[in-house]
Order: sequence, then structure tokens, then C-alpha cells
Amino acid sequence: MLDTKSLSTALILILIIGCALHLVNWRMHRNNRGAKWWTLGLCVQTVGVIATAAVNAIGNPPMLAILLVNSLALSGLVMLVYGTASFADRPLPRAVYAGLASFILAGMGWATLVDPSATTRLVVFGLVQLISNGLILSRLGHIARRDGAMGVVVLAASVASLFLLMGSLVVWQLMTQPEITGMYGDGAVLAPAMLTLIACKTTMIFGYLLLSSGYSQARLEELALSDSLTGLPNRRAFERAVGQRLNSARKQDRLIALAIFDVDHFKQINDTYGHDAGDTVLRHLGRVAAGAVRPHDVLARVGGEEFAVIFDVEDAAELVTAANRLRLAIEIDQPRINEKPVAVTVSVGAVQAVSEPWLDFTDLYRAADQALYRAKGTGRNRVVVGEVDAIKQAA
Ligand code: GH3
Ligand code: MG
Ligand code: MG
Repeated sequence: MLDTKSLSTALILILIIGCALHLVNWRMHRNNRGAKWWTLGLCVQTVGVIATAAVNAIGNPPMLAILLVNSLALSGLVMLVYGTASFADRPLPRAVYAGLASFILAGMGWATLVDPSATTRLVVFGLVQLISNGLILSRLGHIARRDGAMGVVVLAASVASLFLLMGSLVVWQLMTQPEITGMYGDGAVLAPAMLTLIACKTTMIFGYLLLSSGYSQARLEELALSDSLTGLPNRRAFERAVGQRLNSARKQDRLIALAIFDVDHFKQINDTYGHDAGDTVLRHLGRVAAGAVRPHDVLARVGGEEFAVIFDVEDAAELVTAANRLRLAIEIDQPRINEKPVAVTVSVGAVQAVSEPWLDFTDLYRAADQALYRAKGTGRNRVVVGEVDAIKQAA
């Protein structure tokens, strides 16, 4: 039989180490609201567990002390709920927290004044755990979609095993010995319950830490792949998207089509109105282009005044139509500088190809760039379609 005092000491140690790790994590991820509340929640829970052990050591502790330490542990849990909901950007209505707090107070009050038994306390405690962890689980889907699934899987596994193991132990306890005596009860359930807590709390601490690092990694990736002026994907993201599209086109035996468009005489805009006005024009152009492409197209800013699109089209005729729609949208929707509309046009070099195994981003991009060069040479504000095979053969 495992000694419950040693197990309780081990749990407290793990929680203290967890608090220290979370404090470091909070310092490292200051812009992450979750990290703050997870640290506070875990610290409050840890104080709750230490206080519970201390109160228990007294032997036959006063009801009020039990009520206090239990409520402390539960408020830590509510902080974890709050932290997870804000971290997920899916806040819960205030009424939920008010409801939880009232339930804790009423439940603990009942277990102290009306039916002062460890069994009632255990049921109230279990219900709050069930509701709070259920709320935490309900926010995890959004976090997984936004930042990736790693931390979410670890956290969900720890919550699910806590439910399953603790639930079974509580049921076993209530069936074999419904009248629990003392603080935790003195049945055979106590040691396995402590072990469960040690395992699940350790995993949970790691789960939250993984959520923080997943969040930072996803934000960094977002930064690395987006253009700060227009908010569009940048060249690196475009290159990646072309690679993915080449793969899927190959599998589905479809064509791949892309276009590069470059602002005509942009230097003149900068020279006439200044660099800031030039930036405003580029931002405007990004918005207009984003409105002119279709949902499955991928639009990016690939250079100074150069943009590119992967078009989701079936054939050459559709590609020309799509590229001209984009060109016309930009020509018609003029940006305003000093309240006056400014004429801005773009030249477009487009290309489409069967996704052969040898075809890569560089082939496509070079072919589209040569087509763009021809569009510039033949009067600008037009679409020219290039040939990818000819380029590859010439190389
Ligand atoms: P063309 O029709 O042949 O493309 O002529 P152009 O004047 O557009 O081409 P050129 O390559 O000579 O000039 C591009 C200009 O775009 C030069 C550069 O200063 C400007 N530019 C590049 N990036 C930015 C930017 O982020 N903001 C602003 N305002 N200007 C930029
Ligand atoms: Mg230009
Ligand atoms: Mg250019």
C-alpha cells in the first residue's frame, strides 16, 4: 500500500515546480493572456492543496477550514477556465462565472451547514471539476485550429484521464464506503486518487506550457509569412502555396495557373506624391485585388510593387478572363491621394501548365515574369499569357 503522506508531499512538490515553470512561461509570453491566468490559477490551486494538507494534518479539522481550502482549490480551477477562454479568444459570459461561483459557495455551504459530510463535499467538488473542465475542453477546438493541435492533445488527454480515473474512483468509493470519514476519507481509494492527481496534474502543466509555445510559434510563423504593408501573404508564403498547389494539381490531374502583376510606372507615383502616398496606393491595390480574386485563389505581395496570384481555373480562356477581371478591377477602383483619384494600372504576366513532376515554383515564376516583361513591352495595362514548357526546354 502506497503511503498517502508521501504521495501528498510528491503532489505538492510537483505543483510547486509547476508554478515556477508557469511563472517563467508567463515572463516569456507576456502578450499571451492565458499564461497569466494559468499561472495565477495554478498558484491558487497549489496554495489550496498545501492548505488542505495542513488542515488535514490537524486531525478532525473545523468545517470552516475545510470549506475555505476546498473553495481555494476550486477558485484556482475557475481561473484556469477564465485563462483558457481568453487565450482561445472565446470568452464566456459573466453569468457563467457568477453561476460557477454561486454553485461553489452554495454547494460548499450545504456541505458545511446542512449536510456536513465528506461525501456531499466530494460530490460538490466533483461536479465543479466536471463543469469547469468541460468548459476548458469546449475552448480547445478553436485553439487547435489556430495554433496547432500539440498542446491541445496533451491538455485534453490529461483532463479526459482525470475525469475517467477520478470519476471511477469516486464511484468506487461511494459504492464501497458511502460514509467517508475525515478530510479525504480513509478508504483504499485515497492512494490511487493521489497517484491519478500526480499524473494528470503533471500532464496538465505540460499541456498549458505547450499551448503557450504553440501560440508563439503560430504568431511567429504568421509574421514570417505575411507582408506588413498590405497584410497579404508574402513571397515566402506564396512560394509555399505554389508548392502545395502543384502537389494537389498533380494528384487531381489538374492544371496550375498563376499570374504576376506589377504596377505600371509606380516610380512616377512615388516621385510625384511621395513614398507615403506610394504606400497608400499599394495598400489600396492589395484590398482591391483581394476583392477581385475568388475564394480558392491565393493572392500575395511578392515584391515592392509586384503581386502574384494562383488562379483556380480550368483552362487558358478562364485564366485570361480571371486575369483581366483583376486588371480591370484595379484600373476602375482608383486610389485617392489628397482627396483626388489617381490613375493606377497594372501589367499582368500569366502562365498555366500541366503539373508535371519536373515542374517547380521557379519554372512557373520565371515563365510568368517573362510574360509580364512582354506585357510591359507591348504597352502596359494588359494581360500576356506565357508558355512554361518553352522556358524549361530552353533552360
Ligand atoms: P514599370 O511600369 O516598368 O513597372 O515602371 P515602374 O516605375 O513601376 O518600375 P520601377 O521598377 O522602375 O520602379 C518601381 C518602384 O517601386 C521603385 C521603388 O522605389 C518603388 N517601391 C518598391 N517598394 C515600395 C514600397 O514598399 N513603397 C513605395 N512607396 N514604393 C516602393
Ligand atoms: Mg512597376
Ligand atoms: Mg517592379
